Amino acid sequence: MPKLLDIIGQGPALAQLQRACAGPRRPHAFLFAGPEGVGKQTTAVEFARLLLCAKPQALPNAGRLGDLPADFQLHQACGACQTCRTVSAGTCPDFALVAKELARFHDDPGVRERKLQELGIDVIRQFLIDPAYRAAVGGRGKVLVVLEAELMSTEAQNALLKTLEEPPSGVSLILLTANAQDLLPTTRSRCQLVRFGRLDEQFVRQQLLAAGVEEAPAGFYAALSQGSIGLALQAHADEMYAAKRPLVEALAALTPATEMAFSEALRKQVERLSKLYIQRDNRQAQAGMELMDKKEKPKELAATVASRRAGQAILVLLSEVFRDALAIVCGHQRLLVNADQAECIAALAKRFSPDDLSEVLTQLGRYEDLLWRNASPKILWDNVAVTCGCALPLEID
Ligand SMILES: [Zn+2]
Repeated sequence: MPKLLDIIGQGPALAQLQRACAGPRRPHAFLFAGPEGVGKQTTAVEFARLLLCAKPQALPNAGRLGDLPADFQLHQACGACQTCRTVSAGTCPDFALVAKELARFHDDPGVRERKLQELGIDVIRQFLIDPAYRAAVGGRGKVLVVLEAELMSTEAQNALLKTLEEPPSGVSLILLTANAQDLLPTTRSRCQLVRFGRLDEQFVRQQLLAAGVEEAPAGFYAALSQGSIGLALQAHADEMYAAKRPLVEALAALTPATEMAFSEALRKQVERLSKLYIQRDNRQAQAGMELMDKKEKPKELAATVASRRAGQAILVLLSEVFRDALAIVCGHQRLLVNADQAECIAALAKRFSPDDLSEVLTQLGRYEDLLWRNASPKILWDNVAVTCGCALPLEID
Protein backbone atom coordinates (compact mmCIF):
# COMPACT_ATOMS: atom_id res chain seq x y z
CA MET A 1 0.00 0.00 0.00
CA PRO A 2 1.42 3.44 -0.90
CA LYS A 3 2.01 5.94 1.89
CA LEU A 4 -0.36 8.91 2.07
CA LEU A 5 1.88 11.31 0.14
CA ASP A 6 2.73 8.67 -2.48
CA ILE A 7 -0.90 8.27 -3.55
CA ILE A 8 -1.00 9.34 -7.19
CA GLY A 9 -3.65 11.28 -9.06
CA GLN A 10 -5.56 12.69 -6.08
CA GLY A 11 -3.50 15.84 -5.34
CA PRO A 12 -6.42 18.16 -4.50
CA ALA A 13 -7.90 15.62 -2.04
CA LEU A 14 -4.53 15.10 -0.34
CA ALA A 15 -3.98 18.87 -0.12
CA GLN A 16 -7.38 19.32 1.50
CA LEU A 17 -6.63 16.62 4.08
CA GLN A 18 -3.21 18.14 4.85
CA ARG A 19 -4.86 21.51 5.43
CA ALA A 20 -7.47 19.90 7.66
CA CYS A 21 -4.69 18.41 9.80
CA ALA A 22 -2.89 21.73 10.06
CA GLY A 23 -5.88 23.56 11.53
CA PRO A 24 -6.30 24.17 15.25
CA ARG A 25 -9.06 21.58 15.53
CA ARG A 26 -9.12 18.53 13.35
CA PRO A 27 -12.42 18.07 11.49
CA HIS A 28 -14.15 15.00 12.79
CA ALA A 29 -16.37 13.99 9.89
CA PHE A 30 -15.29 13.61 6.30
CA LEU A 31 -17.14 12.49 3.21
CA PHE A 32 -14.81 11.09 0.56
CA ALA A 33 -16.78 11.19 -2.69
CA GLY A 34 -15.66 9.92 -6.08
CA PRO A 35 -15.85 7.01 -8.50
CA GLU A 36 -15.24 3.47 -7.36
CA GLY A 37 -11.64 2.27 -7.41
CA VAL A 38 -9.74 5.58 -7.58
CA GLY A 39 -8.10 5.46 -4.15
CA LYS A 40 -10.72 6.62 -1.63
CA GLN A 41 -10.24 3.62 0.66
CA THR A 42 -6.45 3.64 0.34
CA THR A 43 -6.45 7.33 1.24
CA ALA A 44 -8.85 6.78 4.15
CA VAL A 45 -6.64 4.04 5.61
CA GLU A 46 -3.46 6.10 5.18
CA PHE A 47 -5.14 9.19 6.62
CA ALA A 48 -6.33 7.12 9.58
CA ARG A 49 -2.78 5.88 10.10
CA LEU A 50 -1.57 9.48 10.12
CA LEU A 51 -4.18 10.51 12.71
CA LEU A 52 -3.37 7.52 14.93
CA CYS A 53 0.41 7.32 14.37
CA ALA A 54 2.75 7.64 17.36
CA LYS A 55 5.47 9.42 15.37
CA PRO A 56 4.10 11.07 12.22
CA GLN A 57 6.67 12.17 9.66
CA ALA A 58 6.81 15.85 8.66
CA LEU A 59 8.31 16.98 5.37
CA PRO A 60 8.18 20.20 3.37
CA ASN A 61 5.79 20.23 0.43
CA ALA A 62 8.46 21.43 -2.06
CA GLY A 63 6.02 21.24 -4.99
CA ARG A 64 4.68 17.79 -4.21
CA LEU A 65 1.11 19.05 -3.82
CA GLY A 66 0.46 21.87 -6.28
CA ASP A 67 -2.48 23.24 -4.29
CA LEU A 68 -0.30 24.04 -1.25
CA PRO A 69 2.59 26.52 -0.77
CA ALA A 70 6.10 25.10 -1.28
CA ASP A 71 7.01 25.54 2.40
CA PHE A 72 3.83 23.92 3.72
CA GLN A 73 4.63 21.15 6.20
CA LEU A 74 3.13 17.87 5.00
CA HIS A 75 2.50 14.91 7.28
CA GLN A 76 2.15 11.19 6.88
CA ALA A 77 2.22 8.14 9.13
CA CYS A 78 5.64 6.70 10.08
CA GLY A 79 4.55 3.25 8.88
CA ALA A 80 6.63 1.54 11.56
CA CYS A 81 5.03 2.14 14.96
CA GLN A 82 2.71 -0.38 16.59
CA THR A 83 -0.44 1.52 15.53
CA CYS A 84 0.71 1.93 11.93
CA ARG A 85 1.35 -1.80 11.69
CA THR A 86 -1.89 -2.89 13.32
CA VAL A 87 -4.03 -0.51 11.20
CA SER A 88 -2.58 -2.07 8.05
CA ALA A 89 -3.12 -5.58 9.40
CA GLY A 90 -6.72 -4.78 10.27
CA THR A 91 -6.18 -5.52 13.96
CA CYS A 92 -5.96 -2.00 15.44
CA PRO A 93 -8.67 -1.60 18.09
CA ASP A 94 -8.92 2.13 17.36
CA PHE A 95 -9.59 1.73 13.66
CA ALA A 96 -12.44 0.08 11.80
CA LEU A 97 -13.73 -0.31 8.27
CA VAL A 98 -17.51 -0.58 8.42
CA ALA A 99 -19.03 -2.32 5.40
CA LYS A 100 -22.40 -3.88 4.59
CA GLU A 101 -20.72 -7.30 4.73
CA LEU A 102 -20.35 -6.88 8.51
CA ALA A 103 -24.04 -7.78 8.80
CA ARG A 104 -23.00 -11.40 8.66
CA PHE A 105 -21.01 -10.99 11.91
CA HIS A 106 -23.80 -9.26 13.79
CA ASP A 107 -24.76 -10.67 17.22
CA ASP A 108 -28.39 -10.96 16.13
CA PRO A 109 -28.98 -14.00 13.86
CA GLY A 110 -31.88 -12.15 12.21
CA VAL A 111 -29.49 -9.44 11.01
CA ARG A 112 -27.04 -12.12 9.84
CA GLU A 113 -29.73 -13.70 7.66
CA ARG A 114 -30.57 -10.53 5.78
CA LYS A 115 -29.34 -10.04 2.24
CA LEU A 116 -26.29 -7.83 2.04
CA GLN A 117 -27.85 -5.01 0.05
CA GLU A 118 -27.81 -2.17 2.53
CA LEU A 119 -26.05 -0.88 5.61
CA GLY A 120 -28.78 -1.16 8.17
CA ILE A 121 -29.13 0.52 11.53
CA ASP A 122 -28.09 -2.66 13.40
CA VAL A 123 -24.72 -2.77 11.68
CA ILE A 124 -24.17 0.99 12.09
CA ARG A 125 -25.00 0.73 15.81
CA GLN A 126 -22.86 -2.30 16.59
CA PHE A 127 -19.84 -1.50 14.45
CA LEU A 128 -19.80 2.31 14.33
CA ILE A 129 -21.81 4.16 16.97
CA ASP A 130 -21.08 1.84 19.92
CA PRO A 131 -17.30 1.62 19.26
CA ALA A 132 -17.17 5.42 18.80
CA TYR A 133 -18.26 5.86 22.43
CA ARG A 134 -15.85 3.28 23.86
CA ALA A 135 -12.48 4.60 25.05
CA ALA A 136 -9.60 4.53 22.56
CA VAL A 137 -6.89 1.99 23.40
CA GLY A 138 -3.86 3.77 21.94
CA GLY A 139 -4.60 7.20 23.42
CA ARG A 140 -4.67 8.98 20.06
CA GLY A 141 -8.34 8.73 19.32
CA LYS A 142 -10.18 6.55 16.87
CA VAL A 143 -10.90 6.55 13.16
CA LEU A 144 -13.97 4.80 11.83
CA VAL A 145 -14.46 4.47 8.09
CA VAL A 146 -17.76 3.59 6.39
CA LEU A 147 -17.49 1.96 2.96
CA GLU A 148 -20.30 2.49 0.44
CA ALA A 149 -21.93 4.95 2.83
CA GLU A 150 -24.72 5.59 0.33
CA LEU A 151 -26.04 2.13 1.22
CA MET A 152 -26.86 3.29 4.76
CA SER A 153 -30.61 3.12 5.29
CA THR A 154 -32.44 6.31 6.23
CA GLU A 155 -32.85 4.89 9.73
CA ALA A 156 -29.11 4.21 9.97
CA GLN A 157 -28.22 7.69 8.75
CA ASN A 158 -30.62 9.30 11.20
CA ALA A 159 -29.15 7.26 14.05
CA LEU A 160 -25.69 8.42 13.02
CA LEU A 161 -26.45 12.16 12.83
CA LYS A 162 -25.66 12.96 16.44
CA THR A 163 -22.33 11.09 16.31
CA LEU A 164 -21.44 12.81 13.03
CA GLU A 165 -22.20 16.25 14.41
CA GLU A 166 -20.52 15.85 17.74
CA PRO A 167 -18.44 12.70 17.97
CA PRO A 168 -16.73 11.85 21.23
CA SER A 169 -13.45 13.69 21.59
CA GLY A 170 -10.68 12.33 19.35
CA VAL A 171 -13.02 10.31 17.16
CA SER A 172 -12.93 10.89 13.40
CA LEU A 173 -15.47 9.44 11.01
CA ILE A 174 -14.83 9.05 7.30
CA LEU A 175 -17.70 8.14 4.99
CA LEU A 176 -16.82 6.83 1.53
CA THR A 177 -19.25 7.05 -1.36
CA ALA A 178 -19.33 6.82 -5.13
CA ASN A 179 -22.28 9.16 -5.15
CA ALA A 180 -22.67 11.81 -2.45
CA GLN A 181 -26.12 12.70 -3.79
CA ASP A 182 -27.42 9.33 -2.62
CA LEU A 183 -26.85 10.29 1.02
CA LEU A 184 -29.37 12.29 3.01
CA PRO A 185 -28.69 16.06 2.90
CA THR A 186 -28.53 16.03 6.71
CA THR A 187 -25.70 13.46 6.57
CA ARG A 188 -23.83 15.32 3.82
CA SER A 189 -24.03 18.68 5.55
CA ARG A 190 -22.37 17.33 8.70
CA CYS A 191 -19.25 16.18 6.84
CA GLN A 192 -16.37 17.96 5.19
CA LEU A 193 -16.65 16.92 1.53
CA VAL A 194 -13.41 15.67 -0.07
CA ARG A 195 -13.72 14.99 -3.78
CA PHE A 196 -11.80 12.25 -5.56
CA GLY A 197 -11.49 12.40 -9.35
CA ARG A 198 -10.99 9.82 -12.04
CA LEU A 199 -7.41 8.81 -12.73
CA ASP A 200 -5.76 9.35 -16.08
CA GLU A 201 -6.38 6.37 -18.38
CA GLN A 202 -2.71 6.25 -19.35
CA PHE A 203 -1.74 6.09 -15.69
CA VAL A 204 -4.12 3.17 -15.13
CA ARG A 205 -2.67 1.43 -18.22
CA GLN A 206 0.89 1.93 -16.93
CA GLN A 207 -0.06 0.50 -13.54
CA LEU A 208 -1.56 -2.57 -15.20
CA LEU A 209 1.55 -3.08 -17.36
CA ALA A 210 3.70 -2.75 -14.24
CA ALA A 211 1.51 -5.40 -12.58
CA GLY A 212 2.37 -7.78 -15.42
CA VAL A 213 -0.79 -7.42 -17.53
CA GLU A 214 -0.11 -7.72 -21.28
CA GLU A 215 -0.38 -4.76 -23.65
CA ALA A 216 -3.77 -5.43 -25.31
CA PRO A 217 -5.68 -6.43 -22.14
CA ALA A 218 -4.08 -3.51 -20.25
CA GLY A 219 -5.39 -1.06 -22.87
CA PHE A 220 -8.83 -2.67 -22.74
CA TYR A 221 -9.08 -2.67 -18.93
CA ALA A 222 -7.84 0.94 -18.67
CA ALA A 223 -10.47 2.12 -21.19
CA LEU A 224 -13.25 -0.04 -19.77
CA SER A 225 -12.69 1.20 -16.22
CA GLN A 226 -12.57 4.89 -17.23
CA GLY A 227 -9.77 5.87 -14.90
CA SER A 228 -10.48 3.53 -12.01
CA ILE A 229 -7.50 1.39 -11.10
CA GLY A 230 -9.63 -0.64 -8.70
CA LEU A 231 -12.21 -1.54 -11.36
CA ALA A 232 -9.46 -2.23 -13.91
CA LEU A 233 -7.71 -4.69 -11.57
CA GLN A 234 -11.04 -6.28 -10.77
CA ALA A 235 -11.82 -6.76 -14.48
CA HIS A 236 -8.37 -8.29 -14.92
CA ALA A 237 -8.94 -10.68 -12.00
CA ASP A 238 -12.28 -11.63 -13.57
CA GLU A 239 -10.55 -12.32 -16.92
CA MET A 240 -12.94 -10.03 -18.72
CA TYR A 241 -10.58 -9.60 -21.67
CA ALA A 242 -10.64 -13.29 -22.53
CA ALA A 243 -14.40 -13.26 -21.96
CA LYS A 244 -15.15 -10.35 -24.27
CA ARG A 245 -13.02 -11.37 -27.29
CA PRO A 246 -15.37 -14.11 -28.57
CA LEU A 247 -18.44 -12.04 -27.62
CA VAL A 248 -17.28 -9.09 -29.75
CA GLU A 249 -16.53 -11.44 -32.66
CA ALA A 250 -19.96 -13.01 -32.37
CA LEU A 251 -21.62 -9.58 -32.16
CA ALA A 252 -19.93 -8.41 -35.33
CA ALA A 253 -21.40 -11.35 -37.28
CA LEU A 254 -24.68 -11.78 -35.42
CA THR A 255 -27.62 -13.00 -37.57
CA PRO A 256 -31.05 -14.35 -36.59
CA ALA A 257 -29.55 -17.83 -37.08
CA THR A 258 -26.82 -17.27 -34.47
CA GLU A 259 -28.77 -15.23 -31.92
CA MET A 260 -29.70 -18.16 -29.69
CA ALA A 261 -26.12 -19.46 -29.61
CA PHE A 262 -25.06 -15.93 -28.65
CA SER A 263 -27.64 -15.88 -25.86
CA GLU A 264 -26.21 -19.13 -24.56
CA ALA A 265 -22.66 -17.73 -24.66
CA LEU A 266 -23.84 -14.73 -22.65
CA ARG A 267 -25.51 -16.95 -20.05
CA LYS A 268 -22.36 -19.06 -19.73
CA GLN A 269 -20.34 -15.93 -18.99
CA VAL A 270 -22.88 -14.81 -16.40
CA GLU A 271 -22.65 -18.22 -14.76
CA ARG A 272 -18.83 -18.17 -14.77
CA LEU A 273 -18.73 -14.70 -13.23
CA SER A 274 -21.36 -15.49 -10.58
CA LYS A 275 -19.26 -18.41 -9.40
CA LEU A 276 -16.18 -16.19 -9.24
CA TYR A 277 -18.04 -13.54 -7.24
CA ILE A 278 -19.30 -16.11 -4.74
CA GLN A 279 -15.81 -17.62 -4.34
CA ARG A 280 -14.26 -14.18 -3.82
CA ASP A 281 -16.94 -13.21 -1.34
CA ASN A 282 -16.34 -16.46 0.58
CA ARG A 283 -12.63 -15.73 0.78
CA GLN A 284 -13.32 -12.23 2.12
CA ALA A 285 -15.81 -13.58 4.64
CA GLN A 286 -13.28 -16.17 5.77
CA ALA A 287 -10.62 -13.49 6.25
CA GLY A 288 -13.13 -11.34 8.15
CA MET A 289 -14.06 -14.27 10.34
CA GLU A 290 -10.43 -14.84 11.29
CA LEU A 291 -9.84 -11.13 11.94
CA MET A 292 -12.92 -10.86 14.13
CA ASP A 293 -12.30 -14.16 15.81
CA LYS A 294 -15.75 -15.52 14.98
CA LYS A 295 -16.35 -19.24 14.97
CA GLU A 296 -19.56 -19.48 13.00
CA LYS A 297 -19.23 -19.63 9.23
CA PRO A 298 -20.99 -16.61 7.70
CA LYS A 299 -23.80 -16.84 5.20
CA GLU A 300 -22.81 -17.11 1.56
CA LEU A 301 -23.47 -14.36 -0.95
CA ALA A 302 -26.91 -15.15 -2.40
CA ALA A 303 -26.66 -16.78 -5.84
CA THR A 304 -29.33 -14.44 -7.23
CA VAL A 305 -27.39 -11.36 -6.13
CA ALA A 306 -24.15 -12.75 -7.60
CA SER A 307 -25.89 -13.60 -10.85
CA ARG A 308 -27.42 -10.13 -11.15
CA ARG A 309 -24.06 -8.46 -10.57
CA ALA A 310 -22.54 -10.77 -13.18
CA GLY A 311 -25.32 -9.95 -15.63
CA GLN A 312 -24.66 -6.28 -15.10
CA ALA A 313 -20.95 -6.74 -15.87
CA ILE A 314 -21.80 -8.52 -19.14
CA LEU A 315 -24.29 -5.82 -20.14
CA VAL A 316 -21.59 -3.21 -19.53
CA LEU A 317 -19.25 -5.12 -21.88
CA LEU A 318 -21.94 -5.22 -24.58
CA SER A 319 -22.75 -1.53 -24.13
CA GLU A 320 -19.11 -0.59 -24.61
CA VAL A 321 -19.05 -2.46 -27.92
CA PHE A 322 -22.06 -0.51 -29.21
CA ARG A 323 -20.67 2.75 -27.84
CA ASP A 324 -17.48 2.05 -29.79
CA ALA A 325 -19.53 1.43 -32.95
CA LEU A 326 -21.52 4.62 -32.35
CA ALA A 327 -18.28 6.59 -32.01
CA ILE A 328 -17.15 5.29 -35.42
CA VAL A 329 -20.50 5.97 -37.12
CA CYS A 330 -20.61 9.51 -35.74
CA GLY A 331 -16.94 10.16 -36.47
CA HIS A 332 -16.08 10.89 -32.82
CA GLN A 333 -12.40 10.92 -32.02
CA ARG A 334 -12.71 8.50 -29.12
CA LEU A 335 -10.21 5.86 -28.17
CA LEU A 336 -12.12 2.64 -28.63
CA VAL A 337 -12.52 0.45 -25.56
CA ASN A 338 -12.28 -2.50 -27.94
CA ALA A 339 -9.43 -1.05 -29.98
CA ASP A 340 -7.89 -4.53 -30.18
CA GLN A 341 -10.92 -5.66 -32.24
CA ALA A 342 -11.33 -2.57 -34.38
CA GLU A 343 -12.30 -4.62 -37.45
CA CYS A 344 -15.24 -6.19 -35.56
CA ILE A 345 -16.37 -2.76 -34.37
CA ALA A 346 -16.14 -1.45 -37.93
CA ALA A 347 -18.30 -4.36 -39.17
CA LEU A 348 -20.90 -3.58 -36.52
CA ALA A 349 -20.79 0.11 -37.40
CA LYS A 350 -21.55 -0.77 -41.05
CA ARG A 351 -24.64 -2.78 -40.13
CA PHE A 352 -26.36 -0.20 -37.95
CA SER A 353 -27.43 3.43 -38.30
CA PRO A 354 -26.64 5.84 -35.43
CA ASP A 355 -30.32 5.68 -34.44
CA ASP A 356 -30.21 1.89 -34.29
CA LEU A 357 -27.06 1.96 -32.17
CA SER A 358 -28.63 4.47 -29.77
CA GLU A 359 -31.70 2.25 -29.59
CA VAL A 360 -29.57 -0.80 -28.70
CA LEU A 361 -27.84 1.20 -25.94
CA THR A 362 -31.19 2.34 -24.53
CA GLN A 363 -32.45 -1.23 -24.57
CA LEU A 364 -29.31 -2.57 -22.87
CA GLY A 365 -29.89 -0.02 -20.11
CA ARG A 366 -33.43 -1.34 -19.76
CA TYR A 367 -32.16 -4.90 -19.42
CA GLU A 368 -29.94 -3.74 -16.54
CA ASP A 369 -33.09 -2.67 -14.70
CA LEU A 370 -34.80 -5.95 -15.54
CA LEU A 371 -31.91 -7.91 -13.99
CA TRP A 372 -32.98 -6.61 -10.58
CA ARG A 373 -36.57 -7.72 -11.11
CA ASN A 374 -37.61 -11.28 -11.45
CA ALA A 375 -37.27 -11.74 -15.20
CA SER A 376 -36.38 -15.29 -16.25
CA PRO A 377 -32.67 -15.36 -17.17
CA LYS A 378 -33.27 -17.42 -20.31
CA ILE A 379 -35.91 -15.01 -21.66
CA LEU A 380 -33.87 -11.99 -20.64
CA TRP A 381 -30.66 -13.09 -22.38
CA ASP A 382 -32.56 -14.30 -25.47
CA ASN A 383 -34.02 -10.82 -25.69
CA VAL A 384 -30.61 -9.22 -25.23
CA ALA A 385 -29.27 -11.35 -28.11
CA VAL A 386 -32.15 -10.33 -30.41
CA THR A 387 -31.70 -6.67 -29.51
CA CYS A 388 -27.98 -6.90 -30.26
CA GLY A 389 -28.75 -8.63 -33.58
CA CYS A 390 -31.36 -6.33 -35.04
CA ALA A 391 -31.75 -3.36 -32.67
CA LEU A 392 -35.34 -4.37 -32.05
CA PRO A 393 -36.69 -4.33 -28.51
CA LEU A 394 -38.78 -7.33 -27.51
CA GLU A 395 -41.29 -7.14 -24.75
CA ILE A 396 -40.70 -8.81 -21.41
CA ASP A 397 -43.47 -8.82 -18.88
ZN1 LIG B 1 3.30 5.29 12.97
